[in-house]
This record gives sequence, structure tokens and C-alpha cells, in this order.
Amino acid sequence: MKWEENVRKIVPYVPGEQPEVPGMIKLNTNECPYPPAPGVQEAIKAMQSRELRLYPDPDARVLVEGLAEYYGLKKEQVFVGVGSDDVLSMAFLTFFNGDKPILFPDVTYSFYDVWADLYRIPYKTCALDGDFHICPQDYKRPNGGVIFPNPNAPTGVYEPLKLVEEIVEANRDVVVIVDEAYIDFGGESALPLIQKYDNLLVVQTFSKSRAMAGMRIGFAMGNEKLIRYLSDAKFSFNSYTMNRPALTLGAEALKDRAYFEEITGRIVTTRERVKGELKKLGFMFPDSLTNFIFATHERIPAARIFQALRERNIYVRHWDKPRISDYLRITVGTDEEMDTLLSFLREYI
Ligand SMILES: *Cc1c(COP(=O)(O)O)cnc(C)c1O
Repeated sequence: MKWEENVRKIVPYVPGEQPEVPGMIKLNTNECPYPPAPGVQEAIKAMQSRELRLYPDPDARVLVEGLAEYYGLKKEQVFVGVGSDDVLSMAFLTFFNGDKPILFPDVTYSFYDVWADLYRIPYKTCALDGDFHICPQDYKRPNGGVIFPNPNAPTGVYEPLKLVEEIVEANRDVVVIVDEAYIDFGGESALPLIQKYDNLLVVQTFSKSRAMAGMRIGFAMGNEKLIRYLSDAKFSFNSYTMNRPALTLGAEALKDRAYFEEITGRIVTTRERVKGELKKLGFMFPDSLTNFIFATHERIPAARIFQALRERNIYVRHWDKPRISDYLRITVGTDEEMDTLLSFLREYI
């Protein structure tokens, strides 16, 4: 058909599956196994029909101000969106507008190359080393921008702040985005560096550590000028990205720091225990500072374990991609869920 010549064609990102199988154990998309803060659940119950009837605040003030207070920033340093996917997509569109290729790791969040293709941004990938660590010297060549997650996904590998700063410092002429989707599980955030570097954007999410993946809340923090540019792009796209319940519930979640620390702490404790058990079963993995473990088995191919787990309604994630096809990404669930996984594996292996 002739009209197809004018169509913007794109190979889309493939999200992890969201099966609805009774009794399944869902360890495939890094959700939190615990409920959101009690205050969030109460606020849902108290919600009135006006939350649906009225447009939301286009400036998302309750949430932006809540985040600014929580992280000790000015509200002009905070941008919010529909999950960090929306924030990152907007950041690609806004900041990666040069002719030179943007840089990101070869093994990383598989949305980056999709956004680059969608927005016609040239890109080059930089190979992680044999232990899945970033080689900072790869990011010291001419480029149109840099993005990487820290900790990285799907590897779980965390890079110390010194390395992050080295990359930001070496790239003062472009925007560097650090995607901190998993920073609340033990790493140290690059956030303080935004006061020193006007080219650094730090992106985080409520999806993993705040148990609110279904609500779609993400945010970016950076200097006021970066945030203003992001905001201009958003208002040229859709004034009302964030719905009213998301604004209210997101702000509510931030009020309960103790609960947040309790559930992230529990996940870290479970993660460390499961690391030990997986090792005993012959699994190997780069050390993870996230809510998942990226594991390969000494004998059994990952694809086979993946299938066997699936038949038992235990869902983990597997990619048929170079360098990682023999790994499984296993989300850290509750202790009970992990015990079911481990006892199946003991039997299977
Ligand atoms: C999960 C994830 C995101 C996106 O999460 P949202 O639910 O859209 O906030 C972004 N980056 C990485 C590396 C992730 O793993």
C-alpha cells in the first residue's frame, strides 16, 4: 500500500509478560511483593468521583512539591511523568537532539535503543567488561549524550559514585542521564551531584521500591534549566500526563519514610539470603544491588530452566540476546515466594 511509505515504522520495546494465572509466582518484572504504604491504601478508599471528573493539575504540584521536600530540592529541580519510561522518553526527545551518537552500554535497559530509533537519534553502544561493569574510558569520546542505569538492568551491577562522576565530568558538553530505577536497594544515588553538574539528570521511579508500578509514577531531578526544557517538551505533547489519583497517591507514599525503609530493607535481606542459596545450587551471578538477581547456571541452559519454571507457574525473565541468553533475571519476591522457587530448583537441578 502506497500510504505505508509515509508511516513511522519502529520495532517496539517488548515488556515482560503480565500473566493472570491463579497461584502464579510472578518474579519477571521487578515489581514489589509488598503493598504500598498504608496511607496510600487509605487514600484510595477515600477517593471521590471528582478525582475522575476533573482534569488534574497540569503542573502536578502536590507530587512535585512532595518530591522536592523529600529530596531537599527546589520544586523547579523536579519533573514528574507517567512512570520513568515516560520521563526517560521525554528526556531522549528533549536532550538528545545533536548529530553525534548518544552512548549507552551494550547490555542494558532494552528501551534505550527503541527510543533512539523512534526519535531518529544516532547511538553507539559501549561493551561492558567481562564482569558486566562499565568501562568509563568508553564514554570519553565525542558523543551527543550519555545514558546508563545505575545499578544497571538487567545485570544488577552497581557502579560507585566515583565512576558516575568521572563520566559526568568528562561529558560537560552533553546531557548525562543516570537511570536510578533500582537505587533504593542499596546503592548511593548520584542526586547530590546535580548541584555540581548542570548537565546531569537523575531519573527514579515509584514502580520498584515504592510498590506502585500500576500507578505509573516516575520523576527526574536536575538543575532548573534542564527541568524547564523537559517541561517545555511535556507541555508541547500532553498537558495532563499525570492523572489525579497518581498525583494524590504518589504524594501520600512519600509521607511514610519508615514504611519505605521497612519494605526495601526486607527485600535486601531476602536478596542476600537467596544469593547464598542460589550459589549452593550452582548458579553464578554478578553481585546485585537491586531487587533482582541475574543468574546463570554452571550446567543447565537458562532457556531450559526458564521453561521448567514456567510450567510450574513461576515466571522469571529470559532474553534471547547476545551475551545474556544464558541468564535468568529473577525478581526478589517475598521469603515465601523465594522458598517455593528454591525448593523447585533444588528438585529440578
Ligand atoms: C523498570 C525500569 C524503568 C521503568 O520503570 P517505570 O515503571 O516506567 O517507572 C526504567 N529503567 C529501568 C532500568 C527499569 O528497570
